[in-house]
Amino acid sequence: MQNFLRISSYILRYRKLVGLSIVCAIVVSLFWALNLSIAFPVVKVLFQNDSLHEFVDQEIEGLQASIREDELALANIPHQDVKQRAKIQYQVGEESRQLLLLTRIRNSVLPHVPRDKFDTMAVILLVLLAATLLKGLFIYYQEMLVGSVVQLTVNAIRQDCFRAALKLDSQTLSSIGTSTLMSRMTNDIEQMTNAIKVFGVTLVREPLKASACTALAFYVNWRLALLSVTMVPLLGLVFNFFGRRLRRASHRTMESMARIYDCIAETFGSARIVMAFSGFRKHRKKFLQANRDYYVGSMKIVRLGALSRPISEIMGVLGVFAALGPGAYLVLRETDSILGIKLATAPMSIAELATLYALLAGTLDPVRKLSSVFEQIKRGMAGSDRVFSLIDMRTAVPEPKSPRVMIPHQSLISLRNVSFRYDGTDVEGSLRPLALRNVSLDVKFGEVVAVVGGNGSGKSTLLSLLPRFMDPVEGQILIDGVDIRELRTQDLRSQIGLVTQETFLFNDTIFENIRYGNPSATREMVVEAANRAQAAGFISQLPDGFETIVGEKGGKLSGGQRQRIALARAIIRNPSILILDEATSAVDSQSEDVIHAVLKSFSVNRTVFIITHSLSSAFLDLVTRVVVMDQGQIVATGTYDELVRTAPAYSRLLQAETTHFRAA
Ligand code: ADP
Ligand code: MG
Repeated sequence: MQNFLRISSYILRYRKLVGLSIVCAIVVSLFWALNLSIAFPVVKVLFQNDSLHEFVDQEIEGLQASIREDELALANIPHQDVKQRAKIQYQVGEESRQLLLLTRIRNSVLPHVPRDKFDTMAVILLVLLAATLLKGLFIYYQEMLVGSVVQLTVNAIRQDCFRAALKLDSQTLSSIGTSTLMSRMTNDIEQMTNAIKVFGVTLVREPLKASACTALAFYVNWRLALLSVTMVPLLGLVFNFFGRRLRRASHRTMESMARIYDCIAETFGSARIVMAFSGFRKHRKKFLQANRDYYVGSMKIVRLGALSRPISEIMGVLGVFAALGPGAYLVLRETDSILGIKLATAPMSIAELATLYALLAGTLDPVRKLSSVFEQIKRGMAGSDRVFSLIDMRTAVPEPKSPRVMIPHQSLISLRNVSFRYDGTDVEGSLRPLALRNVSLDVKFGEVVAVVGGNGSGKSTLLSLLPRFMDPVEGQILIDGVDIRELRTQDLRSQIGLVTQETFLFNDTIFENIRYGNPSATREMVVEAANRAQAAGFISQLPDGFETIVGEKGGKLSGGQRQRIALARAIIRNPSILILDEATSAVDSQSEDVIHAVLKSFSVNRTVFIITHSLSSAFLDLVTRVVVMDQGQIVATGTYDELVRTAPAYSRLLQAETTHFRAA
């Protein structure tokens, strides 16, 4: 419910359109009720009299006569009998009102109505037709107006969703998962769209129609109309019952939809592995399971929907019967009370009853429509819960309130007692172990630091803290004496170039992929960066050169080529801090040599961190210091020669890694 209120804050941006649509809805409902109530009396009049004029004249005469009678009677009633006098005075009032109305009709409407009965009928049919056409026109406008408001609203919400997700830190993002995000921004929003649409169209128009009919029904005979209204609370109970179940079912369905997304993304995201290992069966099975869950959930929703419609219809018919049964009794027995309870001012005519019936049935139709949109609304509410919970998510890496001005890094990067623990729990439910424990390290501007250590020793984690992909749980990181939490993340990251083992290229041209590192770069700068990354050679041999589209994740290029484009992307950023996370582990030794050569010239006047397994002599040439990590701790630092001399245990580790990699 709360989220529905939030949706309305979006909708209110378009309040003019909303207002217009409501006006349209009001017009539609008026036409609806008038169409229903006009036909019966007129037809009756036509079949019992010679013409409308004659009927009206007769009625007026009748009224005048009874008013005269009443006045006479009044004169004979003693002044003390206040009750009797009041009753007759009331009757006179009523009759005078009707008389006034009829006289008005006679003077203003009847002159335009033909005297011939068939002609009158034809005019009435034409009026009905025109009214229906007008009603249709207003229905059209209402739906168009609501449709545009809905689309505008949903667009805005989807935009906010995307923006909110972009603001999240990497841990939160990976715990949500891409498939869930996709599901939120497509499926859930779609559900929401449907709900808002029926909200704006059906939920505004149908109750108006119903209340217009109800109001007229009360006008015709309020006692009988009241009888049928007693069914309303019962109807409410039924809606509530179905509503709660629908919400639960829809929640489960959406979850299985996210699993379907997961399965598709996983299977076709690594299609080659699936093919190579003939994993079709396994994936098919997983998909089957998710698909079946979705089916079960959807069927539950279908069943609830299918049940709720007839049930609410039955309730509605019961409501009509509650009025019609006694009504029919009054007409057929020509009386005005049942069991001594007065139900009508005078014995009802069949026309009155028929009109009442038409109006109550006219109330029923909107109710039936409402009950079918109920399901959509409930689904939409469940969807909006999920969408807004995404919009409300807050990053674990908050921006500083009053950020410090970042000056280009030029003296010292300093890690002080930094510890880090990944969120979540392990299988036994206890917290994950610390991925970094009390790490302290000072790196002077211009150093080239090699970070080595076994798998899972915390190297990547350590260097992810620098661009604030996440924040340490303890300790702090200072760049030139400023805690990086006091800098705007955008400023901080603009200083950092990052190349990872898995190079992420976007499915765009090589040119755009390089320029991604610096959106304001000119063509010359892109070419220059490609040159420095020694990528220009192979790019010029591609048929489209820089305009070559690299394919999804850069799939149309070789690993070494991808890596050099990623390097060019980091180079064009001209970062003061360069981080390479196993940038050369996935490429052949030739590309590796090229990358080392590139680094040799590019690392001048920057601070460079290189996570690596390979300590070839060309590489060692480049590196000013080696940091050895083990189980989340720095266990040794120094130049390679120092480490070999002072820490034989680690030097064995280093050598083992060197030879291991070389052999592989
Ligand atoms: P390295 O890069 O040295 O191989 P990492 O820094 O990637 O090691 O990982 C250090 C530890 O943190 C490992 O035990 C790993 O299992 C854990 N770890 C890494 N990434 C995550 C993550 N996203 N969620 C939970 N644990 C993680
Ligand atoms: Mg790693």
